[in-house]
Amino acid sequence: TDPLVRVRGLNVTFAQKRLLGPTRSVRAVHDIDFDIGRGETLGLVGESGSGKSTTGRALLRLVPVESGSVQLAGQELTKLRGGELRKLRAAMQMVFQDPYSSLDPSTTVGASITEPFRVHQGLSRNQAWPRVLELLELVGLPASHANRYPYEFSGGQRQRIAIARALALHPKLIVCDEAVSALDVSTQNQVINLLEELRAEFELSYLFIAHDLAVVRHIAHRVAVMYLGRLVEVGPAERVYERPAHPYTEALLSAIPVPNPQRAGERERIVLHGDLPDPADPPAGCPFQNRCGYAMDICRESMPPMTEVADGGTVACHLQTTGPRLAGAVLRDAN
Ligand code: SF4
Ligand code: MG
Repeated sequence: TDPLVRVRGLNVTFAQKRLLGPTRSVRAVHDIDFDIGRGETLGLVGESGSGKSTTGRALLRLVPVESGSVQLAGQELTKLRGGELRKLRAAMQMVFQDPYSSLDPSTTVGASITEPFRVHQGLSRNQAWPRVLELLELVGLPASHANRYPYEFSGGQRQRIAIARALALHPKLIVCDEAVSALDVSTQNQVINLLEELRAEFELSYLFIAHDLAVVRHIAHRVAVMYLGRLVEVGPAERVYERPAHPYTEALLSAIPVPNPQRAGERERIVLHGDLPDPADPPAGCPFQNRCGYAMDICRESMPPMTEVADGGTVACHLQTTGPRLAGAVLRDAN
């Protein structure tokens, strides 16, 4: 069956104004391809500045798409205008790290949740109210809290309210941009469990963005890893966690504490030295070369193409075709 979301050759470039020196153009998202299935959660991981949020925003057309194709259920989205674009916004929603960006602090949460009904369906506040109460209960909050203000809720509860608002118009896809990153671990788990229940009940798909592979582990069916605006690895979650194919994925994974102390010695923490290269002036060859413990001559000369990984997914790394395989390779210090 067709995927719900199909992205091909997506490029997003920003004009970056600088205090010193001329405005320059920075490619934040560089020629990326991915699909999200119906009812599937794709985890999108990478450090800050890797282009994850920009990718999520580009799907919703919240940032301009320079080139490439984004399809939702077979419909091309990059050319939509006006009313068509508004319809799209109902089908695709976003939940942010900071719920204050979608909840007005001076408005009751109930009134905030009526907004999508008023804007998209022309309902009055009173007409929308019964739906608001249903939505609050759906996300595990008492309907009687509808008249409270955002500050009267905990961080986890505010995130539930943001989810209720995102659900109002029966979206097909929700982009969760660091939606649980600011919460403590037990609240994170509760919100992730809620998202998981809602996904199953409404056949939702999620693009679940996080800087940390640990957060994504319990929700993603597949994982995509981004580095300097490019996807460097995509694959089924189990395979990526058990057998990462890209050195950057391996380093991100090595930062997750191993729950079983008897296995702790099996994985060495890989400390990345060096900085993320300047996205306006990326190096020739592999973007990860200056921090990679496996870097070879070819890595400085040519960009590794996306290649199939034998046990699932794709990776952009020359190790896939030349040199030692990642697993069992001797880790060297990147410096
Ligand atoms: Fe490291 Fe080379 Fe693979 Fe890039 S292509 S991740 S530098 S081994
Ligand atoms: Mg971000």
